[in-house]
Amino acid sequence: MLVGVLAAALLAASCLQPPEGPDGAARGSGGAGGEGSPGPGYGDLLATPAAEELPGRLVVYFLDVGQADASFVRTPGGKVIVIDTGDSPDDVVGFLKAKGVERVDVLVLSHPHADHIGGALRILEEFEVGVLYDSGFVHPTRVYEETLAKALELRDAGRLTYVAARAGQVLEVDPSLSVTVLHPEEPLGDEANDASVVLKIVFGSFSVLFTGDIEEAGERAVLARSAELGVDLGATVLKVAHHGSRTSTGPEFLAAVHPEVAVIQAGRDNPYGHPSPVVLRRLSEAGVTVYVTASHGTVIVHSDGEDWEVVTGP
Ligand SMILES: [Zn+2]
Repeated sequence: MLVGVLAAALLAASCLQPPEGPDGAARGSGGAGGEGSPGPGYGDLLATPAAEELPGRLVVYFLDVGQADASFVRTPGGKVIVIDTGDSPDDVVGFLKAKGVERVDVLVLSHPHADHIGGALRILEEFEVGVLYDSGFVHPTRVYEETLAKALELRDAGRLTYVAARAGQVLEVDPSLSVTVLHPEEPLGDEANDASVVLKIVFGSFSVLFTGDIEEAGERAVLARSAELGVDLGATVLKVAHHGSRTSTGPEFLAAVHPEVAVIQAGRDNPYGHPSPVVLRRLSEAGVTVYVTASHGTVIVHSDGEDWEVVTGP
């Protein structure tokens, strides 16, 4: 644990600066003592499917897809979870093909905005998808309606299980993991962002919290609901909500999650000013090591359930 704390403290000082190399990346341990494992070589990881074979490890890619969210998870048992799909129809499909993926076991669409579901239709068209979880929030856009129509077609043909994610559900994807839905719950309200699916993946003492684009109201609901469910919001890695917008990552929510690493998925020179300097300062003051895809590119975190390491690039 000490190693993780020291690494976080050292890196907090250079928050937002790209790591200088493998030794500059954050790593830590959830167990007693010992350095984080140096991890495998990741030089060609994005392009080389064979290098992805890391049996027994949880690997999470926070993909650099511009001003959009997309994450790829390979579970210790080799299952594939995709959480949001970027803005472009092609980015995530191209990534999955480069990885040699043939089946997406679980596809999670946090909410129906185009920067999260832009690649979902092509994934449904080109890959076998086991279960699709979405928020159930209806959105009158072409990209949403086409995605929904395809999902319903596959469901009706018996080729897809389609589930409205609701707080308290547990996703049965890999027995070595605990995957819990913490949000949304009924009624969904009028804001798509605040109805985002929030998911916590726990592997041993390592955990990741995916927050979609929830804002203040959503964070309050997650705080309340997780307390009711008896779920600890604490997570090693926080996927910062809403691209680092100042309307998210409030002090109370951040204190409850108390992450060691935060990943912000935002585009270079995006017109929204994401991530907000207010949020960056809040994370820095909390001693959190921050990675932003706009400056670090794709951020990869992998863990054996105890030690963990962050790798960026290419
Ligand atoms: Zn978004």
